[in-house]
Amino acid sequence: MDASDPANLELNPDEMRAMGHATLNRVIAHLASLPDQRICGDLQAEALCRSMRKPAPTFGTDLQSVLDSLFDEWIPRSFTPSGPGYMAYIPGGGLFPAALADFIADSTNRFTGIWQAAPALVQLEANVLDWFRDWMCFPPSTSGLLTTGGSMATFNAILCARERHLGPDIRAGVVYASTEAHHCVGKMAKLAGIMPDRFRLVPVDASFKLNVQRLTELIRSDREAGLRPFLVVSSAGTVNTGAVDPLNAIADICVHERLWHHTDGAYGAFFHVCEEFRPILHGLERADSLTLDPHKGLFLPYGTGALLVRDGAALRAVHAGTASYLPPQPVAEEFYDPSQHGPDLSRGFPGLRVWLCVTLFGAARLRAAIAEKRVLALETAERLQQVPGLSLMAPPELSLFAFHVTWPGSNVTERNDATRELIDRVRDRGQVMMTGCTVDGQFLARICILSFRTRRPQVDLCVTQIAEETASILAAHNPR
Ligand SMILES: *Cc1c(COP(=O)(O)O)cnc(C)c1O
Repeated sequence: MDASDPANLELNPDEMRAMGHATLNRVIAHLASLPDQRICGDLQAEALCRSMRKPAPTFGTDLQSVLDSLFDEWIPRSFTPSGPGYMAYIPGGGLFPAALADFIADSTNRFTGIWQAAPALVQLEANVLDWFRDWMCFPPSTSGLLTTGGSMATFNAILCARERHLGPDIRAGVVYASTEAHHCVGKMAKLAGIMPDRFRLVPVDASFKLNVQRLTELIRSDREAGLRPFLVVSSAGTVNTGAVDPLNAIADICVHERLWHHTDGAYGAFFHVCEEFRPILHGLERADSLTLDPHKGLFLPYGTGALLVRDGAALRAVHAGTASYLPPQPVAEEFYDPSQHGPDLSRGFPGLRVWLCVTLFGAARLRAAIAEKRVLALETAERLQQVPGLSLMAPPELSLFAFHVTWPGSNVTERNDATRELIDRVRDRGQVMMTGCTVDGQFLARICILSFRTRRPQVDLCVTQIAEETASILAAHNPR
């Protein structure tokens, strides 16, 4: 960098090449070491974070020392959701071509917010949304939007439902979701102007699925109270136990009651790509709108969410807008214009990361990877079922299941403590990470297999370590 001309921020080709090589080398070494990286980083990072607070540097630093800090000090002090042993929360993968796509998108820095500014690039994003539409068996009228994640997809869905069903008079509108729905539903309802006193949590049945009987009762009593039910949010795979709500029955209710039906498929929707799993998600294709999270079930890096809206006009009605300083709207209906389908104007180019991954791998390989995750989850569940002292709630419907530690004569507090201890002990061994949740006062360990890097060796490791730690926990409670 030329110090004699400080206003010149352009790098010369040799500098760019050297920086690119240095970064690529670190990234590749990092990815190669993923199986050996500690799965859970550092749970006591307060002091470190305080020591990191610094004013913006007046003068630049060289890349090498920054890469050292990042790869040697800061990145290792995180969870390792990209690692093969990560079965906590909903795992993320991070397909490598997506990073290349971001590199290309950021380096070329074309404007993909409006169609006219980069028509061919925007078409790639439109193709991605069409692929999602086809995989989810939505009709040609569908429109969609790539978002930063499932939460923002859900936000935009609630806006569509609100505008379509309530118009400007939103205060009487009521939203329904099960007690097991993701917390982002209530949060996004509030962002969309639907306050907590108009958000109903519908009880679940013994399998943690939305109880449709209770849903209809709640809708009726809200109508009798003069309120305006307008939206039901169902879950195609909950975070706690992986339960898939009765999507088809909920779709029937929504047709009958004239309500918008949004399905949260942030965890589960991509299993619909595999035809053999479609019966598990029966009714998903009937939703008015659907949240998908490519950064979960399609193995993309974080920052990649998506929404499909069956009647694309509803999404455009929410987001249409123009100004005299912009190219004229509307562009021919045939062409997709991101700023007319979502809240952003200037934005990154999320379409390229998805497009490049699907194009390089092809749908068949992605399908095979998704299918394998379910097979591995079923197998893990079956093997854990055989472990003395473990009790499974139910086999996985998709690739997520919950279980707990138990022994004869134990009470719920003891079981909860033992299950917590199991999660901690396995995590502290550094190779496998699961997390827990509390359902009905019962603390459950949960395993979600969704990273493309999780293969049979990690499943073996997971089963072995859980069996060993369970035996040791039980021995402490039942000394011979
Ligand atoms: C992850 C998740 C969300 C939230 O999505 P983000 O991408 O984290 O914003 C919502 N619902 C379910 C079922 C999820 O698994």
